[in-house]
Amino acid sequence: MAESLKAYIVTEHVSGEDQAVVRFAASNVIARREGANGLDVEFPDVSCKRAEHFDGFAPGPVPDHALFKAGWWFFCTHCQARASDGSGALIDGVAYCSDHENAATVAARVVQDVAELPDRTSPDDWPDAMLVTAKELRRIVEDAVYAAGPQVDGGYGE
Ligand SMILES: [Zn+2]
Repeated sequence: MAESLKAYIVTEHVSGEDQAVVRFAASNVIARREGANGLDVEFPDVSCKRAEHFDGFAPGPVPDHALFKAGWWFFCTHCQARASDGSGALIDGVAYCSDHENAATVAARVVQDVAELPDRTSPDDWPDAMLVTAKELRRIVEDAVYAAGPQVDGGYGE
């Protein structure tokens, strides 16, 4: 039964990367064994600790946004730098490093504002499409970029 499953974080210490997985199991030893298998390392090479904050996601998987909030990092979709909470963002399931986070925020706002244009209905055969005129899109992008603040790191002289 899912109710008896508890969340554990299983971390390996042999690769130097400290990779970790979340496993849901009835006991620490079961989670540790399954986690070691998932990480493709031996049982003695992992540590296993309870993660009460993930219990609500049993039987798993833990969604990326919850992992992100809990300290997991992801590769930035643009540059492969590490994106983590406090140094980047996870927006609609896509990770952005701190350098690309601002662009992602602008893009998210543009999409949101286009979606909220009144009296628009996506074509029945293309429900993901958004209807916007060039004039509307220009205004929305300008507003979003302006709201994001200055983008240019500038200087003069030394
Ligand atoms: Zn990046």
